[in-house]
Amino acid sequence: MSFCIAIDGPAGAGKSTIARKLAEKMGMIYVDSGAMYRAMALFMLEQGIGKEDTEAMNGCCGKADITIRYENGEQIVYLNNRNVNSLIRTEEVSTMASISCQQPDVRKKLVSLQKGLARKADVVMDGRDIGTCVLPDADVKIYLTASSSVRAKRRYEELLAKGEACEFDKIEQDIIERDHRDMTRAESPLRQAEDAVLVDSSDMTVEEVMETIVKICGDRKRGI
Ligand code: C5P
Repeated sequence: MSFCIAIDGPAGAGKSTIARKLAEKMGMIYVDSGAMYRAMALFMLEQGIGKEDTEAMNGCCGKADITIRYENGEQIVYLNNRNVNSLIRTEEVSTMASISCQQPDVRKKLVSLQKGLARKADVVMDGRDIGTCVLPDADVKIYLTASSSVRAKRRYEELLAKGEACEFDKIEQDIIERDHRDMTRAESPLRQAEDAVLVDSSDMTVEEVMETIVKICGDRKRGI
């Protein structure tokens, strides 16, 4: 039986930073489920599908072969045998992913892929529905959150450091809209699983969040 850690929470809560570090520390594999929704969104954009055309989104997702490989410990997402890691972090893909991930056929396909990965290895998987839907029997479930203004500030500083032009208010508005879509969608909405531990990182450093979560994982492994 593999050991699984599920980390869910809203956009910009620091899930991927923490999940990646945690996987490294615990000798597990990090699975970024959001990257799969992003690869699917890229496929749809490349097919010329519009943001309102939900019928086409459901119809076309069978033609997208999404697979995951690990190269030097990094998750690489392949879309129809093409490495798309460098193409899935644009604003256009983010918006399309946030809309197309609501489609039942898209979720069915990617949830099945995610479950398969967790059957084969010990994984730290992050996303929106991991503890509630993908890995309901995960050994550890964390719901990692932070206030929308703190999440927007982190994103703003990240973009500034990269030298990209951005406006704080627009970033915060975008985060609020994404949260709303994630939490109100019909298909596996974002919510804290009943048995998940809530970690609010608003006033915590990355090191403090890590320390908190490593302790929770250690306690669970010892059956506490
Ligand atoms: O986490 P990230 O921003 O990369 O996720 C991309 C999109 O995929 C988001 O809009 C999110 O709502 C969606 N997603 C999801 N279920 C997951 C992971 C991500 O619906 N398990």
